[in-house]
Amino acid sequence: MIRRIAFCSSPGRALALIALTAVAVRAQNIPPTLTVDSASAAALARRQPRERPDTIRAYPVRKLGPGAYAVLGDTGQGSEGRSNAGFVVTRTGVVVIDALASPAQGKALLRTIRTITPLPIQWLILTHHHPDHTFGAIVLKRAGAKVIAHPDRRTLASEDGDDAMVSAWTGVLGLREMQGFAFADTPDVPIARDTTLVLGGRTFDIQVPGTAHTPGDLVIWVPDARVLFAGDLLIEDGVAMVVDGSSGGLLAALDRLEALKPAAAMPGHGRIPDDPIALIHLTRCETLSLRTTMRDDVQQGVSMSRALASLPPADRDRPVSRNSRVRRNAVRIYAEMERELLHSSDDAPAKSDSVAMLSCQQ
Ligand SMILES: [Zn+2]
Repeated sequence: MIRRIAFCSSPGRALALIALTAVAVRAQNIPPTLTVDSASAAALARRQPRERPDTIRAYPVRKLGPGAYAVLGDTGQGSEGRSNAGFVVTRTGVVVIDALASPAQGKALLRTIRTITPLPIQWLILTHHHPDHTFGAIVLKRAGAKVIAHPDRRTLASEDGDDAMVSAWTGVLGLREMQGFAFADTPDVPIARDTTLVLGGRTFDIQVPGTAHTPGDLVIWVPDARVLFAGDLLIEDGVAMVVDGSSGGLLAALDRLEALKPAAAMPGHGRIPDDPIALIHLTRCETLSLRTTMRDDVQQGVSMSRALASLPPADRDRPVSRNSRVRRNAVRIYAEMERELLHSSDDAPAKSDSVAMLSCQQ
């Protein structure tokens, strides 16, 4: 929690963030070394009955396109559930996208891949550095994967060091699930700008959209299958978190996703959408709507606490329920709008938002 202050540009915002997150931390007794979003994931891991990945032979799989698969996490729970992972089968081996939340989940992911192909695991691409997408990475690395990731690991770093982070996470998931853990998200191949890789004869366009969900986001596009792996830029209900990122960055990233015209897209959490463009559109509209509300409030001198009071209350003990996500995003966006109004000499961002909003009202 405390680490978040480093990202805060205004003291008011820092205080509000601390106040908001302190409530969540107290409610769930989550160790204070975890980041805001990590704390959310930690809370998710506590849900009962707890899944036992060591007893699960394989997770459900959905084919997204030729040789491209989603390993399905929980559906219908927004961000409140096990995340999705994906994999692409190439001529020489398997490229895995994201590694789930623990070594036990990583092993179940590996067993799941083995239900489709016996080819070697050659690469692991991480969409970002949140623990619920990366703490199973060591299993894939030990299976032979080289890691492709953004070099910016700030969202994973803990003020009290890596050991504190791991022991906090272990306290949440349990020893059994974390057995054999080691960090494995440091990239063998760092990607900090848009890069096209040919792996096993297949092309992977790896886009670096800039800070959107986190400062270390990667988007994976497989052009021959028209399949998009969007990480947490997309969540099944359209409320992507920008608590570690930026709503302006998210909007720009969504434009890039839409331009790809994907035939199939895997969100970071939840159901695979029948219509990927519709989910991108919904995510854009949710984000624009909150930006408009917060911008109006900042312009009218409404304090952050009063602005938050106009939103539905956060759900107690559910820090990434839909209402809780909207509220936490609002804190971030209020500060973004404040900064925009302090530093911008014209109303170009507001105009561009309201033009984009027109499509949301249809
Ligand atoms: Zn995330």
